[in-house]
Amino acid sequence: MKLADYFDSIQRTAKTTLEGMAVTFSHLFREPITVQYPDRLDRPVSEMLPERYRGLLEVQMDICTGCKRCERACPIECIAIDLVKDPGGSKKQMMARFDIDMGKCMFCGLCVEACIAESTGAIRHTREFEGASTTLDGLVFRFIQTGDLVPLYKAPKDKSQIPVGDYGPHAREARERAMRDNPAVLEELRKAWAVTAGKAKKKKGGKKGPGGLAVPALTDQGKITRIAGAMTKVDKANVGALAKALEQLTAQTDCGACGYPTCIEYTTAMASGSDKDPSKCEPGGAEATADLGFALKVVGGTPLEDAAKGSPPVTT
Ligand code: SF4
Ligand code: SF4
Ligand code: SF4
Repeated sequence: MKLADYFDSIQRTAKTTLEGMAVTFSHLFREPITVQYPDRLDRPVSEMLPERYRGLLEVQMDICTGCKRCERACPIECIAIDLVKDPGGSKKQMMARFDIDMGKCMFCGLCVEACIAESTGAIRHTREFEGASTTLDGLVFRFIQTGDLVPLYKAPKDKSQIPVGDYGPHAREARERAMRDNPAVLEELRKAWAVTAGKAKKKKGGKKGPGGLAVPALTDQGKITRIAGAMTKVDKANVGALAKALEQLTAQTDCGACGYPTCIEYTTAMASGSDKDPSKCEPGGAEATADLGFALKVVGGTPLEDAAKGSPPVTT
């Protein structure tokens, strides 16, 4: 290499480096625009987002007709709506469940479109987005609490008369409830099942202590009984509803490791009785096995305390 080429090469290297760093250096002399989230803001970030932002879903239950159009429109079965006969004796139907699994939702908006086009606009995206949770259970938004019944809204012909409320409060409320109640509920079920892990055997015939059946029974008997009650109320003839309930106890990744293409196909097989093995969900691991085994026993009519005894029912 000639000496002139050598210095030319050094010059070009220095020039391109300085050009590349020019943008970086320019920031040394600009006003900082860092937003210190989530505190030190004069208003919540959700209020700064565009109106049509597709954030967490919510349902305004007092204008929901229970038509299930949103449930049918969802391509990945995030929405579960259960209708029951009015126990008061009228021939009307009522809603017993309206769950949205925000952990699965891909925010496509198809459910919202279906509701706006053909019903009342009760389901909608909000500008709420903070849904961080340590478990997937904390992202299942329940717009009807277990045991409650909600009457169906009769929509007026003139859609402008539908009393559409503020966007956001229903999602915030559902998120708070989900974070507070759902993981704890499954934790209680796991504790009940954990009695099979050997501690009960060690204490057989002796006084029950921490880790034994006495733990869930004494700490939150009301909650665990409510959940077990909800499981047993699932119409066993309605395989689809039971399959959806069981699906919530799998890892819900549709990975196929259980031998079925999707989670719902695995739980449908369990719900219909053609597969009795609750241990096939690989990503769900021991927790999914324990939860599914426990749920299958409870749904099968085993009393709660008895369901928590014995070995996990791994049969094929
Ligand atoms: S009214 Fe809307 S939110 Fe309610 S069930 Fe029908 S489509 Fe779903
Ligand atoms: S936004 Fe899409 S994925 Fe989410 S619940 Fe609605 S239809 Fe299902
Ligand atoms: S292994 Fe678990 S997560 Fe994967 S498809 Fe089967 S049930 Fe779903």
